[in-house]
Amino acid sequence: MSFLLESIKQSKPYLYSAFSSIEDGEQHLQRIIELDRYWERLKQPPQTVIWQSSDLPKDIVISGEYDLIYAGGTLSLLHAAMMVGKYDRKVMIFDRQTPAKSTRDWNISRKELLNLSAIGLFTESEIDSAIVRQYKNGWVEFYQPDGSQKRLVMENVLDCAVDADKLLCLAKEKIKSVPGNVIIAERTFIGCYQFDDHIVVKIEDRQGNAFYYKAKVLVDVMGILSPVAMQLNEGSPQTHVCPTVGTIASGFEDVDFDTGEILVTTGPAEASSGKGRQLVWEGFPAEGSKYISYLFFYDEADSPNDKSLLGLFDTYFKTLPEYKKQGVDFLVHRPVYGIIPAFFHDGFDRTREIADDHIILFGDAASLGSPLTFCGFGSMVRNIHHLTGDLDRALSDNNLSKKHLEKISAYEPNVASMANLMKYMCFNAATDEPNFVNDLMNEVMIVLDDLPHHYRQAMFRDEMKIEELVLVMLRVAWRYPKVLMATWEKLGVQGSFGFLKNLVGWALSPVR
Ligand SMILES: Cc1cc2nc3c(=O)[nH]c(=O)nc-3n(C[C@H](O)[C@H](O)[C@H](O)COP(=O)(O)OP(=O)(O)OC[C@H]3O[C@@H](n4cnc5c(N)ncnc54)[C@H](O)[C@@H]3O)c2cc1C
Repeated sequence: MSFLLESIKQSKPYLYSAFSSIEDGEQHLQRIIELDRYWERLKQPPQTVIWQSSDLPKDIVISGEYDLIYAGGTLSLLHAAMMVGKYDRKVMIFDRQTPAKSTRDWNISRKELLNLSAIGLFTESEIDSAIVRQYKNGWVEFYQPDGSQKRLVMENVLDCAVDADKLLCLAKEKIKSVPGNVIIAERTFIGCYQFDDHIVVKIEDRQGNAFYYKAKVLVDVMGILSPVAMQLNEGSPQTHVCPTVGTIASGFEDVDFDTGEILVTTGPAEASSGKGRQLVWEGFPAEGSKYISYLFFYDEADSPNDKSLLGLFDTYFKTLPEYKKQGVDFLVHRPVYGIIPAFFHDGFDRTREIADDHIILFGDAASLGSPLTFCGFGSMVRNIHHLTGDLDRALSDNNLSKKHLEKISAYEPNVASMANLMKYMCFNAATDEPNFVNDLMNEVMIVLDDLPHHYRQAMFRDEMKIEELVLVMLRVAWRYPKVLMATWEKLGVQGSFGFLKNLVGWALSPVR
């Protein structure tokens, strides 16, 4: 038995027991602990990883030169495959783990996914090969003690389970098939040196050997742990988070393989001594007899709650039987986990830093998705067309300063406004009744159920129009006036004005 697993035997007994019997349990534990370092980093001054050109040691050797260097090997592969295939750019991608091997799978609707074939990245049949299951419909439901919860059923929302690694491998093969492009595993980003007309990136292998590469632009796609995002945003790269854990497992006794369970709560918030979290489940059928179940909660990045993935995983394995009944042949095939980021923009437009001279941030490093529905993957699928086309233009025109690069972003004013709603789902033990989040969300479900079907689909696909959102909010306030007090308590003066500014920014924005 490994030392790492043994070290959690007492403190996380359910996690210990589950991970002891899964393939690569030790490696997953290591990656979870690595992700959990995020919470410590938030409390420390940010590390400096962007250096001036004069700091570059004189005796170094440049090992390669590229148009774009991508730090991080997940969503980068989709973007890079476009830059190589469509725009003939020379790229290098590195990851401290294995590129194209993610710790999660994705749900999205087929119509949205087909955007990747519309832009010429994949053929339709390639896309279909990565869809492992499609459901008839999905539903959302929030716990009511008397069993009166409204089950909101919808079609064409998050109804395709995508094998993330398969999709990423397809992109990886496209990149590798063009000579001159490089994808490297087990290389860690250490820092970068900004020159007037290029950038030098320093990376290290697992033995601590340093290598230097030159590029026109460093694309930071290191996810929530990005040290570049930490530095550019002065140690506060996220305002809100959504710690998420789960498994891809088989052997459940009571699952419906034709239906996605998009958001489900099975009880009130768990609260104790000034802390509290409203746990939410998700259940998505996957390939064959496999089923993906997630447990997560929404929270402020600096709340006093235990937000560790280790702790949440222990709760997941402890409480899974309350959500789904496990049969005798229950088997965990793979754990899935991560910290989904969110950022509240206190302004009419994007306020988060997402670029610097010769540096641009995409994916979770940029934190521009909404954690309410689908997140970074959905955001990339929607925005990849202009995130690639605009970057190619910037490279051609040599417009690679912060001022130019920060215009190339996945910021969407509607998503920024909608993301405010997440604040209502962050349970606050000091002000909220234990069932507050469920009561409020149940009212939202009732309101949506009364409106034409289009509203619920738009809400859960980040496609609402401003007048539609306002109508839903007014109807919820009419039915459930407590939401007004909650707005004051949860958003405060700054948050309420910020929400209004987001809405005005949305109202004034041109539709992309
Ligand atoms: C459990 C779970 C389920 C999800 N489901 C959905 C969904 O259904 N739909 C959806 O749209 N979104 C979903 N998301 C969100 C989505 O997975 C993320 O938005 C997406 O993975 C972000 O990709 P990324 O490339 O930006 O970052 P990541 O996926 O976090 O990848 C970052 C990469 O950078 C590497 N890295 C980090 N630091 C360094 C370093 N210093 N040097 C080198 N490499 C480094 C990491 O090893 C990692 O491979 C889910 C997230 C989770 C956690």
